[in-house]
Amino acid sequence: EKGRNDFQIFNADMKSVSINRLKLENELRRAIALEEFVLFYQPQVDIETGRIVGVEALIRWNHPEKGLISPNYFISFAEESGLIVPIGEWVLRAACKQNKAWQNQGFSPMPISVNLSMRQFFQHNLKGKISHVLEQTGLDPQYLELEITESMTMDVDHAIQSLLELKELGVHVSIDDFGTGYSSLYYLKKFPIDKLKIDRSFVRDIMVDPNDAAIVTTIIAMTRHLNLKVIAEGVETEEQLHFLHQNRCNEVQGYWFSPPVNAVQLENMLSHGVHA
Ligand code: C2E
Ligand code: CA
Ligand code: CA
Ligand code: CA
Repeated sequence: EKGRNDFQIFNADMKSVSINRLKLENELRRAIALEEFVLFYQPQVDIETGRIVGVEALIRWNHPEKGLISPNYFISFAEESGLIVPIGEWVLRAACKQNKAWQNQGFSPMPISVNLSMRQFFQHNLKGKISHVLEQTGLDPQYLELEITESMTMDVDHAIQSLLELKELGVHVSIDDFGTGYSSLYYLKKFPIDKLKIDRSFVRDIMVDPNDAAIVTTIIAMTRHLNLKVIAEGVETEEQLHFLHQNRCNEVQGYWFSPPVNAVQLENMLSHGVHA
């Protein structure tokens, strides 16, 4: 509509975009078949005791030529193409297996958090699939935590139904990136969830932006009234940690303690503690 030249440029762009997408899709399919993924683990620290009380499992793609690829490069494409379903199943199984292995090695049992994608959350028989993985790996359901985002709760009836099923299984559920998406405080109290994860974008500026500080302290106070646990994401400085401690946040996760690390590095921290 803008004229011939624009149309041609548009067409050329679209073609290269679709070739890249096809290439990425083929490479991802191969990665799934050959299990080219690895999990990294980021400790979640109890702010009172300084102890590791959980870990979040975060996927990386161990590409044969490109090396470790961040999830930011492939998760949203995987979600769009549906490939997130087999990838997500791999993550779930690998995380449960690893957590069970840590327990067998004698580390104190702690929950492992796994990010659930929208497609997984809307998958048929999610409860059955998770229960199957728990049985196969022998992990007690109380040591699995599933992270969902606010956007997955927009269909309130579906969310309540699915969350009740997960609750029946005995796993924990947290709301990730809390504050960045759709959230109805009215429904929040009706959802059978255990924990809110305050998004990193609010934590980042708590020392400089009074609005962010107010948002964070308000979320913490709210979780106390709703009987939910709360963890702050993206804690990078001692000042942020101190602020969160003063405002009675339960747990923290962030570079101040540790970035996501491989299993062996995490075992070292479990043995010797996290030293900021
Ligand atoms: P997320 O679930 O919000 O995970 C937290 C991200 O913040 C991680 O990035 C982590 O490395 C990063 N992070 C942690 N602490 C800090 C900090 O102090 N400062 C800063 N700047 N960043 C910090 P990562 O591992 O690159 O993952 C990015 C996103 O990819 C995740 O965000 C999640 O949405 C998605 N993702 C990762 N693994 C999976 C997975 O297995 N399944 C699904 N569906 N999504 C995943
Ligand atoms: Ca997460
Ligand atoms: Ca998050
Ligand atoms: Ca996120």
